[in-house]
Amino acid sequence: MGGAKESMIINEESWTYGLIDFLEKLIEREEFEKDSHMGIAKQIISKGVKSMSDKQELVIKNLVNKYKKKYSCDLCLNDNVTSLLEYIDIADEGICPTCESVKQKYMRE
Ligand SMILES: [Zn+2]
Repeated sequence: MGGAKESMIINEESWTYGLIDFLEKLIEREEFEKDSHMGIAKQIISKGVKSMSDKQELVIKNLVNKYKKKYSCDLCLNDNVTSLLEYIDIADEGICPTCESVKQKYMRE
């Protein structure tokens, strides 16, 4: 009966959004340059994002930023990228999943 609160739009602008899935992929792909980084990643996966110390957070944040810079979508320059996991696709395909689907559409027409 009434009183319905507007459904809250979850504002997940936090940089850690999708981080665990992303780190799992990096471990799978053995993309860590340092064992210490992989150690932190494993800790985050098992204990959660909040288990990071400030120092660890800085390390992982840098790692993520480096990855984003290294892999940028050829077509949208990462404008269409909404989750960290998509950078894995860019690493493999050179473009993000959104641009990939647009491209597929054009190719079919
Ligand atoms: Zn793109």
